[in-house]
Amino acid sequence: MINIPKGTKDVLPADSYKWQYIEDTARGVARAFNISEIRTPTFEYTELFSRGVGETTDVVNKEMYTFEDKGGRSITLKPEGTAGAARMFIENGLASSPMPLKAFYITPAFRYERPQAGRLREFHQFGIEVFGSESYHTDAEVIFAASTFLNKLGVKTRLEINSIGCKSCRAEYNKALKEYFKPRLAEMCETCNSRFEKNPLRILDCKEEGCKKFTADAPKITDYLCPDCKAHFDGVKNLLSDLGIYYTVNPRIVRGLDYYSRTVFEFVSDEIGAQGTVCGGGRYDGLIEELGGKPLPAIGFAAGIERLMLLMENTGAAFPERQKPRIYIAGMDEKTRAAAFKIAAELRLKGINAECDLMNRSVKAQFKYADKLGAEYVAVIGETELLNGEVTLKNMKDGTQSAVKTTQIYTYLQ
Ligand SMILES: [Zn+2]
Ligand SMILES: [Zn+2]
Repeated sequence: MINIPKGTKDVLPADSYKWQYIEDTARGVARAFNISEIRTPTFEYTELFSRGVGETTDVVNKEMYTFEDKGGRSITLKPEGTAGAARMFIENGLASSPMPLKAFYITPAFRYERPQAGRLREFHQFGIEVFGSESYHTDAEVIFAASTFLNKLGVKTRLEINSIGCKSCRAEYNKALKEYFKPRLAEMCETCNSRFEKNPLRILDCKEEGCKKFTADAPKITDYLCPDCKAHFDGVKNLLSDLGIYYTVNPRIVRGLDYYSRTVFEFVSDEIGAQGTVCGGGRYDGLIEELGGKPLPAIGFAAGIERLMLLMENTGAAFPERQKPRIYIAGMDEKTRAAAFKIAAELRLKGINAECDLMNRSVKAQFKYADKLGAEYVAVIGETELLNGEVTLKNMKDGTQSAVKTTQIYTYLQ
């Protein structure tokens, strides 16, 4: 037997309704915010991600599925959705379309990491990207869209936001960080030491306990924001408050790459382990330029569907029911089976979920099977019913039976 690759998962027929529910909810929210779907390739040239995700990130350094194709090109399976969306935007000249341009995607993504609950090597993301607007209204709208999505799914998370400022306020802040960490470096991990020169902001990202005790008291970026960045952040916070969205400011949320700026946010839960972020996003005003386009502001988020699923299952969130036949039509012999097959066919053409026998089962066995499927009604056609042009219709919930004309079944089910 050949097994499924490590870190991947099958979606079984009995579970797919949960996926459809999350995806339908995502699409519904996107529609309400007038956001159009985009689809980009599963693989891109590796350079897109080394530039678009960042050469110093763990994702690019350790976790990418990179290979050389038969033409000798370096190809990478997408580890996230934003870089491909930005590439698409630039390559198709979308900067000349009316702004802002709002897009969403539901995509598989690939990262080579140690598989654990809710973290797979092939996983799925729902993400939104808004290109072309610098206004803090956009930040609030994107956060509101994420919050609406999570609320509709019935998952409880807390929203943490931060502003990491612009290039100019971050230069001041980096100086303050270096001053603070310099005397403590000897006691901190290797990664932090290497980040000290290159990108001190990312020290705040360190998950090592030994480093966390120092980062807790580090200077806060929010104390170093320039007047423009401060006004922008205040604007976001005020709009969120107006919408009744509760948030806390967490100065430790950082996106340590140059093209990130201002608003960053995470929706966090304690129900799915230590790194409980189910949805994260932020502004990346420098990304389009980094990838070769004209400078253009942008902001977005991505939510991990497997993590959401785990959270929903752990907290007993309500999924809708899986699909069930409205009616199962049972025949007894060749003639009545043919009639059952035809009635099912007619109902199916009208969009009714109708089932009939494909296994040559006895009527008793058909009833058993229909019950297992959760059919609402079972219609039986015997000799007499066939002659009278009717069926005996049994309501599987309350057990009541009635004779219904074959031509009236559809109306009866309405
Ligand atoms: Zn600034
Ligand atoms: Zn560290």
